[in-house]
Amino acid sequence: MAEDKALIVDDSLEARKAVKDALKDIFPVFIETGDGLSAIKAFVEEKPTFVITDVEMPSLSGFKFISTIRSMEEGKDVPIVMLSGTRETLKSKLSGFNAGASDFILKPFDGAELIARVKTLMRTHRLLEELKEKNALLERLAITDELTGLYNRRYFFESVRTQLALGLRHNFKIACLLMDLDFFKNINDTYGHGAGDEVLRKIGRLLISCKRDGELLARFGGEEFVICIFNTDAANALLAAERFRKLIRGFDFSSPIFPNMRITVSVGIAVYPQDRVITIDDLVRAADKAMYRSKTDGRDRVTVYEEGMDMAPTDKKRKTSRK
Ligand code: GH3
Ligand code: MG
Ligand code: MG
Ligand code: MG
Repeated sequence: MAEDKALIVDDSLEARKAVKDALKDIFPVFIETGDGLSAIKAFVEEKPTFVITDVEMPSLSGFKFISTIRSMEEGKDVPIVMLSGTRETLKSKLSGFNAGASDFILKPFDGAELIARVKTLMRTHRLLEELKEKNALLERLAITDELTGLYNRRYFFESVRTQLALGLRHNFKIACLLMDLDFFKNINDTYGHGAGDEVLRKIGRLLISCKRDGELLARFGGEEFVICIFNTDAANALLAAERFRKLIRGFDFSSPIFPNMRITVSVGIAVYPQDRVITIDDLVRAADKAMYRSKTDGRDRVTVYEEGMDMAPTDKKRKTSRK
């Protein structure tokens, strides 16, 4: 966590000193400025974790200063205490809170009260930060596949669904490459489930290294991976799929414990939009059919989906050849 650093804004040197004296045991670092404009500059440059500001100052009032930093991303949550010597207390307080102040204290202030309020605000702020971090972590976990660190199936569907809508509006094609490892059960049976997991991780890393900007890669499930390529047609998707297929077939997965480990993949490609490929489920289903055709045609190959593919006789064979 960043070091606590307080920005004190007041045109009175004396008032700044009083604040520093009161809070010297809380903040290891103080930054001081005497007006609202230089306070904005100091806020941006120094990134204080706490702000204490006067109301009436030259160039820019405390209200304006607060509303300005509240409008910035980095100033959204920082605790801000307003210190005011005004006689129109209620009006000033309301304006302060409206501008985004976290608390309001009248001058001359009581040192113990200032400390207590500052500590309370810091505690609340810390809790908020922790909550934000946890939320970010949860969000990341919700879209990440635990084993490979790639995006998971949920993210794939969410993200591609949005892209399909965009594709339709802006008239661009989207290719979906579904990739299934060949005879992967044998890897588990021969080398053990742990080795199988390691292979899946390695394949994830290989695919990432080969993936280009604008291609969305995810673990679809089990030993299946999916890649969506936006703004591309079947011919280009085929080139990309061959790139992935050859990368994996050419990679030596062997290690001293697992000699001669080679892996191939079967890939199916479907392109959106086309007849009967209107939703994301259609797209994935079509890619899946093409992928199974790759399996039944001998594996280690790429097939582009064509309408009626599911009616082909090879499909029956495929069904019986899979457990
Ligand atoms: P095919 O060429 O027809 O795809 O053969 P296959 O053996 O790959 O197909 P099958 O569907 O029979 O087997 C898939 C295997 O993938 C079985 C399953 O145990 C394994 N598998 C799925 N997820 C994981 C995983 O997370 N870790 C490991 N180690 N194995 C997995
Ligand atoms: Mg003043
Ligand atoms: Mg499979
Ligand atoms: Mg398989």
